[in-house]
Amino acid sequence: MQAPLELFGIDGLLSDEERAIRDTVRAFVDDRARPHLAEWYDDARIPARELAVELGRLGLLGMHLEGYGCAGTSATAYGLACLELEAADSGLRSLVSVQGSLAMFAIRRWGSEEQREEWLPRMATGEAIGCFGLTEPDFGSDPGGMRTRAVRDGADWVLHGAKMWITNGSVADVAVVWARTEEGICGFVVPTDAPGFSAPEIRRKLSLRASVTSELVLDGVRLPASAAFPDVRGLRGPLSCLDEARFGIVFGALGAARDCLDATISYARERAIFDKPLASYQLTQAKLADMALELGKGMLLALHLGRLKDAGQLQPDQVSLGKLNNVREALGIARQCRTILGAAGITLEHPVMRHANNLESVLTYEGTSEVHQLVIGRALTGESAFR
Ligand code: FAD
Repeated sequence: MQAPLELFGIDGLLSDEERAIRDTVRAFVDDRARPHLAEWYDDARIPARELAVELGRLGLLGMHLEGYGCAGTSATAYGLACLELEAADSGLRSLVSVQGSLAMFAIRRWGSEEQREEWLPRMATGEAIGCFGLTEPDFGSDPGGMRTRAVRDGADWVLHGAKMWITNGSVADVAVVWARTEEGICGFVVPTDAPGFSAPEIRRKLSLRASVTSELVLDGVRLPASAAFPDVRGLRGPLSCLDEARFGIVFGALGAARDCLDATISYARERAIFDKPLASYQLTQAKLADMALELGKGMLLALHLGRLKDAGQLQPDQVSLGKLNNVREALGIARQCRTILGAAGITLEHPVMRHANNLESVLTYEGTSEVHQLVIGRALTGESAFR
């Protein structure tokens, strides 16, 4: 018997360091997260603060960034870590993605030296948690329409507006908030204890329940001039961050799919139906074979994109190829696995429906499938069909 990714000989494509990082994250997840996942999901609570410190101790926060206490690993190693985290739960991977690829990356790439020194070392250890506020209630796929506004008042900036669906919002110490200014869209580093800032949590989610999702309310938040990112205006700033997070999802989604498939193969081998193991039926094997194939193809694509990124050659359109394919296929795998588990598949006794529900959010955030189809369509035809 071979695990699906063993069948593809994936291990042989990884360096010793990449395998070591993967194994460390897998061991952490098995020990620290897996025993609690069903409970976190059921209760819609995750001990984000404690976990952030533990993830920071492992060097996983902002792990692919250089300096300021960050580990400075390869992009591929970061992707493999995302895969192992999401094999536990997309919520755990979201915590790490938003911290490292959105909030920390934004400050590392676009922040002033003062902003970097103030926040990055504490964010790398998990002592400070970050969030990233781009989406608004009326502007998701079209962030350029945002209404959140920052106006100058003497040397200060004053922010008014609301952000929606913000991961880590209610537990964050710092929010990277994108707002419209007279100079164009600009990013601000907002300490969450600033007067006028609040982050009510969004409840009653049926997906990503083991993840904090919040609204950000900016009611006349006064910030010093130094809170603005100095050198970036327009959507180029936030989109550069989204590319980073999407890259992690290209790998991450496969973790959820692998976990579903592993759980389903075990189940099918043990479940006897009409006096024979469910795994011994051709219909079951056909499903398993097709899913293993999609998982392995997705993994080869992820590794290819990882190698391109490590060579400094990865283009945003290529990240769209990976995000679109791997999340869509992962969700397909999770749904198909559920059919093999029958009624048992709808419970939290098995990880499958939890992953499937989580992947519904993953399909939507960081660019919906349709947005990535439009990106790829534009690259293929030279015609933009966004509006
Ligand atoms: P809409 O933009 O309203 O899209 C609705 C539908 O229209 C979709 O199917 C979409 O694909 C489709 N559509 C859009 N444009 C076109 C078009 N041109 N042609 C055809 N169809 C189109 N945002 C943040 O800023 N920070 C976060 O930390 C964050 N975390 C999130 C966590 C969760 C759990 C979720 C669910 C979302 C999060 N988001 C976050 C928001 C996320 O990025 C948005 O939900 C996403 O961009 C889609 O926006 P929307 O939900 O407003 O959908």
